Amino acid sequence: MNNRDIIRRLETEHDLSREEAVFLLNTLGDKDEKLLADAARKTALDQFGNKIYIRGLIEISSYCKNDCYYCGIRRSNRNAVRYRLSEEQILSCCEQGYALGFRTFVLQGGEDGYFTDDRVCAIVRAIKARYPDCAVTLSLGERGEQSFRRLYEAGADRYLLRHETADRTHYEKLHPPQMRFDNRMENLRLLKSIGFQTGAGFMVGSPYQTTENLADDLLFIKAFQPQMCGIGPFVPHKDTDYRDCPHGSLRMTLILLSVIRLMNPNILLPATTALGTIDKNGRELGILHGANVVMPNLSPQEHRADYSLYDNKISTGEEAAESVALLAEKLKAIGYEIAVGRGDYQDNTN
Ligand code: SF4
Repeated sequence: MNNRDIIRRLETEHDLSREEAVFLLNTLGDKDEKLLADAARKTALDQFGNKIYIRGLIEISSYCKNDCYYCGIRRSNRNAVRYRLSEEQILSCCEQGYALGFRTFVLQGGEDGYFTDDRVCAIVRAIKARYPDCAVTLSLGERGEQSFRRLYEAGADRYLLRHETADRTHYEKLHPPQMRFDNRMENLRLLKSIGFQTGAGFMVGSPYQTTENLADDLLFIKAFQPQMCGIGPFVPHKDTDYRDCPHGSLRMTLILLSVIRLMNPNILLPATTALGTIDKNGRELGILHGANVVMPNLSPQEHRADYSLYDNKISTGEEAAESVALLAEKLKAIGYEIAVGRGDYQDNTN
C-alpha cells in the first residue's frame, strides 16, 4: 500500500477502504499531501467551476436543552448568554442578506423548545413568501419525523444535522447518556427520506478521536451520501470540561476536506467558520483543498458573540455577511468567485 496509489484510486474510483483511509491519514507526507490537495481542487473545479456558493447564517437561538460536553451553549453552562431572535428579527436578517446577494438562508440554533413546529413553519413560510427564489436551510437539531415532515411541507429545503462521529463509543464520550447515537443516525435517515437536501458532518480532532474514527466518518459519508458535509476542527470552549484540549489541526482538516471531495465529487462542502477561526487563511485554504461553500454570518451584530459554540469564534471581516465584497475580493485573490443563485445540490451521478 502506498499513498500515491490510494490518491490515484480516490481520483478515479472515488473510493477507499477503511484500511487505506487509516494508512493515508497516518502516513501522508508533504509531497503526497500536495498531490491530494491538487486532485481535490481539480475535482471541485470540474464539478463547480471556480464558483463558491454562499449561505447566509442566521443564529436564531442560543438556548439548548442538550448538554453536549464540547459545546459552549450547552444547557449546563451558566455563563452562556442566552437570546432568541423574533420572527421580525429573522426576516430583517433575510432582508439584509437578500440585498447583499444571498439566496440561501440557514437558520441555526440549539434545540430550543420555544421554536415549536408552528413557530418555525410560520417563519419558513414567511421567508419563502417574501423570497421565493431563496432556499431555506434549517439546523435545529433532532426534532423527529413528525416535525421534520411539517418543516418540509412548510417549504424548508435543506437540513443540517452533523452526525459528529460515526463511532458509537466515541459519540458516547462526547454526549451525555440522554443523547443517543442511534437517534442521531435515525434523524439523519429520516431527513433524507423525507426529501430534504441533508447535511451531515463531524469535528476533526475532537477529544478521544482516533484515526480509525475519522476513517469511519469518511466511510459513513460515502455510504450515507448526504448532499452536504460540514467538517471543521474541534475548538475548545472555556466553559466546558474540554477547555484544555487542543484544537483540531488545520492540516488534518484540510486533508479530510480533500479526501471527502475526492470520495464524493459533487458534495456541497463548506470551508467552515471553525476552520477560519483556527487560521486566518483557513477558509481560503479550505477552498484550495476542495471546499466549495462558505457561510458568512447574517445574525444581528449584537448577538453574534453570544452564539458561542467554541472560543474565539469569528464573526467579523469576511466572516460577516455584510462584508461580502471583502469575501469576494479574498476569493478573487485565489482565483474563485461567488456563485449567483441558490446553489442547490446537483445530482449528476447519472
Ligand atoms: S452541540 Fe448543538 S445540541 Fe449540543 S448542546 Fe450545543 S447547540 Fe445543543
